Amino acid sequence: MTPSFASHNPTVPQQPPDGSLAALPRRAVESRDPATGTVWRRFDALDAAQVDALVARARSAQLAWQGRPLRERIDALDAFHGELFRRRLDVAGIISRENGKAIPEALASEVAVTLDMVRFVTRNAPTLLSAPWFTPSSLAFWRKRARIEHEPFGVIAVISPWNYPFMLPAGLVLAALVTGNVVVLKPSEFTPSSAALLAELFQAAGLPEGVFSVAQGDGVTGSCLTRARVDKVFFTGSEATGRRVALACADRLIPCVLELGGSDAAVVLRDADVGHAASGILWGRFANGGQTCVAPKRVFVEQEAYPAFVAAMRDRIARLRASPAADGSFDVGGLIRPSQGAALASQLNDALENGAQIVARSSLGSNQHDAIVPTVLTDAPPHARVLREETFGPLLPILSVRDAEEAVERANDTAFGLSASVWSRDRARALGVARRLCAGTVMINDSATVAGMPDIPHGGVKASGTGRAHGMAGLEECVRPRATIDDRFTSWRQAWWFGYSPRSTANFDSFIRLAHGRSLRVRFGGIAGSLRLLFRPDRPV
Ligand code: NDP
Repeated sequence: MTPSFASHNPTVPQQPPDGSLAALPRRAVESRDPATGTVWRRFDALDAAQVDALVARARSAQLAWQGRPLRERIDALDAFHGELFRRRLDVAGIISRENGKAIPEALASEVAVTLDMVRFVTRNAPTLLSAPWFTPSSLAFWRKRARIEHEPFGVIAVISPWNYPFMLPAGLVLAALVTGNVVVLKPSEFTPSSAALLAELFQAAGLPEGVFSVAQGDGVTGSCLTRARVDKVFFTGSEATGRRVALACADRLIPCVLELGGSDAAVVLRDADVGHAASGILWGRFANGGQTCVAPKRVFVEQEAYPAFVAAMRDRIARLRASPAADGSFDVGGLIRPSQGAALASQLNDALENGAQIVARSSLGSNQHDAIVPTVLTDAPPHARVLREETFGPLLPILSVRDAEEAVERANDTAFGLSASVWSRDRARALGVARRLCAGTVMINDSATVAGMPDIPHGGVKASGTGRAHGMAGLEECVRPRATIDDRFTSWRQAWWFGYSPRSTANFDSFIRLAHGRSLRVRFGGIAGSLRLLFRPDRPV
């Protein structure tokens, strides 16, 4: 399939073959106000040698961090929570200035969610990291006790995009840190200050040097990080870059978690509260300027509800404020990557050339350079790019379908499978449809909110990625199980050690009858031979 436009970044130099990355010229990355284009902060992009040095410094801090009692790691994250709480308005302002989202949105989707995530990981890590002894379930191993510890991978690389530049990396970093890993974060070149802010807050919280560091830079720096001596990569971004990261990790035989793009479907059933559905889908699609991975990107409406839904959407989009009002407030922020507008305009033109109609459009965009404003389309044919590719901006195609059956079929007809939503007053029917949608998460009567719910595993199927962030599954991604098996007897040979004889066959057979016989009579019949196996080996070696 055609890769998402979001992966094409003309500002990133072409990456040369392996080994020559260090020779690339040094670049700067900039914090730019998306509304005015003004650059307000610059950072040097790290080259391969500097990335290696950062990873080496992280590695030297890791064992001590892992060795700290869990309570101390939790206290450090709790101190981060305190710092973030104290500076919450300041943090939201900086994110808004760099990423363009409205300050209330930055407070809700970046600051509040990150605070919640600290709570989740600090409350749940003790359960994951406790390792009680237990007796294995198999009868053969009655004399053993075992425990399964969850040890950190070591140095984790987090590579993140620009759309939620604080909350997205924070969620992964917090889970990694509490489980005893150290982290090197490569933020997007478009949002370096949000990552620097994260580092500042961790530093203020007293995190030891090297435990969390930021490798500022562009795609080349990201590529260097995947090739450095890290032990696992958590990548969030486009499908095309995700494939490159997966190949780099495969080359080093290290695991990776890939949180990639989506083309999420919203299914509006005929019994839905149409106004409620229109408001919820409008928010999910256009929040963050339409640049949300789990935004509804294709809406399928049962034909009976279609006219009312389109009218409700038209009414709501007219009331959206996509540029600042007199009091400075606005609803929909602008596009962050300058190249995005052109990519979206090309998807929109393709739809229009193929018979789609614009039914609603907000008046103005927030940014001077925005080539596209919040736009709702109908009648896009199935092969239109707006339905086949990820649209990472404020474009929303709405389609009428015969029934829920057709909605499910068309919703699943995509290479992606991140999340989906179903809108209905009939909970049983909604659940039935939800079960058949091919996605990592399905929300009922809400959309996109999942990414801000710390205890819900977030991730996709198909080209939307592998692995999970958030929830217990997200914590588990940060650790690997390590089993210790202890025999309760220090010098009593095992029944299965060498010394086989013809009688051994009968004795092992007795044991299988005792352990797995399908009636009490068969099981009792296995006792004598099993005891012989244990206490009277024929010829112990
Ligand atoms: P990109 O794939 O362009 O970039 C993601 C990150 O990877 C950035 O930090 C980027 O650096 C870096 N990068 C670029 N090239 C490489 C490379 N060869 N090796 C390692 N890292 C590299 O995605 P966008 O930033 O444009 O983000 C938008 C995409 O992210 C959308 O498809 C969206 O759906 C997806 N996304 C998925 C989420 C999920 O949870 N599933 C959540 C949020 C977004 P730089 O920016 O400096 O070029």
